[in-house]
Amino acid sequence: MTSTKTLPKACSKCRDTKYTLSNREGKMQAKLCPCFECVECDGEGRVFRQDDRGMAFLSDCGHCSALRQRLRLLNDSGIPGKFANTTLEIYQPIGLPNKKALSRARDFLGDVKEAPQEPHRGLLFVGGPGLGKTHLVISILKQLILEEGVDGKFVDFFQLLSDIRHGYSQDESEMSLIEPYLKSRVLVIDELAKGRNNEWEQTILDQFISARYNAADKITLFTTNYGDQSTVPSEPKGRTTTLQKQSLEEKVGERIFSRLTQMCDFIKMEGDDYRKKMKPPPKPTRRKK
Ligand SMILES: [Zn+2]
Ligand SMILES: [Zn+2]
Repeated sequence: MTSTKTLPKACSKCRDTKYTLSNREGKMQAKLCPCFECVECDGEGRVFRQDDRGMAFLSDCGHCSALRQRLRLLNDSGIPGKFANTTLEIYQPIGLPNKKALSRARDFLGDVKEAPQEPHRGLLFVGGPGLGKTHLVISILKQLILEEGVDGKFVDFFQLLSDIRHGYSQDESEMSLIEPYLKSRVLVIDELAKGRNNEWEQTILDQFISARYNAADKITLFTTNYGDQSTVPSEPKGRTTTLQKQSLEEKVGERIFSRLTQMCDFIKMEGDDYRKKMKPPPKPTRRKK
């Protein structure tokens, strides 16, 4: 339907995806690219239609409303803005386990995209910091939202706990804060088991896992620094690592752990923290041009 007569070269802003993603004060901001022009609604997002009796009414534009809805979903997903440019394509795995992890992420994405309505087992990426676990789960989540229109959320569990604590003093119910996450089709829980895991925190986590576990249509993706006993990585040369002192099971308890094993495939990642590696040599001296 679209004329290709005067097709200009690819938009440099969005590379013809028709949207842009940016980090706006820490939040993800997805917007239609200025190059996007809807021939049906003139960019209004709505069009007038006529009902059976010839009465005009406003309705969503059939041509662009799906894209607008996906951008809205992404903006409401809770994915931090610093991941605006994160994709599977730019992830550079170092070492075999991380290459395997990337290919598992790709396969998973392919499976869900092929059968978006079907139940799917989740994934739990296990490994030390700086291996790109969060990168992988966020890339999956973003793609499912932007390409499939899936209702997906990212939860910063630490932040959520603090919001709940704050909510108590405001008479805000715990459930009102938790519910959007429990209901979302795909949920990413980053840094599972981080923190002290006292009894109260454990109860909240248990609510999450139980709800996700009991609903067959929910997909949950996790990352964690805590492995099972057998995943304790070999000591980096000459260094003792403070990681992996406790196993994931010890951190979250037997019941939650058992559910995790039933709802997810565990994917081990290994290696050095790439963020440390990428650190530039000690303070660069200012150079004059
Ligand atoms: Zn554009
Ligand atoms: Zn439109």
